[in-house]
Amino acid sequence: MLHRLEPQSPDALLALIKLHAADARPDKVDLGVGVYRTGQGDTPVFAAIKAAEQRLVDTQDSKSYLGPEGDMGFVNALMPYIFGTDDPAMGGRIAGMQTPGGTGAVRLALALAQKAGMMRLHMGTPSWPNHAQIIKDIGLDWTAFDHANPDGSANVDAVLAAIRGAGPGEGVLLHGCCHNPTGIDYTPDQWDAIGDAIAETGVFPIIDVAYQGLGKGMEEDASGFRSVLAKVPEAFIAYSCDKNFGMYRDRVGAFYILAGSEADGAATLEKAFSNANALARASWSMPPDHGAAAVRLILRDADLTAQWLYELDQMRARMNQVRARLAEAGTAGSVDLTPLGTQNGLFSMLPVTADQVRQLREEHAIYMAGSGRINVAGLTFDNMEKFITAIADVTG
Ligand code: PMP
Repeated sequence: MLHRLEPQSPDALLALIKLHAADARPDKVDLGVGVYRTGQGDTPVFAAIKAAEQRLVDTQDSKSYLGPEGDMGFVNALMPYIFGTDDPAMGGRIAGMQTPGGTGAVRLALALAQKAGMMRLHMGTPSWPNHAQIIKDIGLDWTAFDHANPDGSANVDAVLAAIRGAGPGEGVLLHGCCHNPTGIDYTPDQWDAIGDAIAETGVFPIIDVAYQGLGKGMEEDASGFRSVLAKVPEAFIAYSCDKNFGMYRDRVGAFYILAGSEADGAATLEKAFSNANALARASWSMPPDHGAAAVRLILRDADLTAQWLYELDQMRARMNQVRARLAEAGTAGSVDLTPLGTQNGLFSMLPVTADQVRQLREEHAIYMAGSGRINVAGLTFDNMEKFITAIADVTG
């Protein structure tokens, strides 16, 4: 039976990781994989996580099953950070559950939207390869819209046109702060306009939030998607703690549903939540516990929370330093590096061809995605000049 299967091409990024690992050149630079790196090139475990994990080992007295919704202490403790401290449950209109990473939450969101009858999904491109992979795997009908201008700014006109061209029964997938692979974040005014357009057309917003705190700060980074949530009756939020707590392989995520009105009590929200539970039960049954339990311990302890926020500040400061240095360089060959100074988070997209990406890899040992996407955290004060010179060399 299995001979009938068609071979699948390996994930491009995982293939790049292998190529990088096999490269013996001592000055090789990895700008491919999307993890934070210190100035020394490490991806350390947060001290706040180490302390919480120790506490977990010392105090956890059972590993008995939890339900498909996972650790609800974790899910609830995150809510003030995502939805604000004033009314984190938005008047009882939010229900959440734990998921295996943000990716698990995206999959659950799309599967639930499909189950609820979503006819088509609109998604800004370029996006993460896994968005398209999940969409295809679930079998959703989808349309792409441009959301980036060649000069490294947001193409908000195209975003608004896509939303205005959609309608009730259709969905739009939006990237939260720092999650657009181009590095572009919408300004508060642009988020406001996006929220207004969604409210006018009745299209269903699905917001993938994976990097809260890596842009300007936990509060600042939430303001855009919060302004959308304030304007709409229903939405899904897929959330990852794998970046802002450095938990990548522990798969820490959550899925939140905004639904219901005073008129229907909590009936719609409860129905949607019970369907999310059933979908989770039928796929991963229950999410992995350890990482979410550690995050819960941090968020319930003022000292550990302060430690975590301090470590997050350090990450942000380092990325801003790298971005400032790149912007200062101005142009490298035909590439204008100045937009990188105003973009946010780990990622930016360089206007280079696939052939130039290959040249960078083969001639300069610089590894990046074929699309020209780079992880700026792969740059350090030791390799930055080499990077700028190499870009000038292949594009000049
Ligand atoms: N959304 C998408 C599309 C992703 O590819 C990722 C992984 N970078 C995430 C969200 C969040 O990360 P994780 O699944 O590791 O929590």
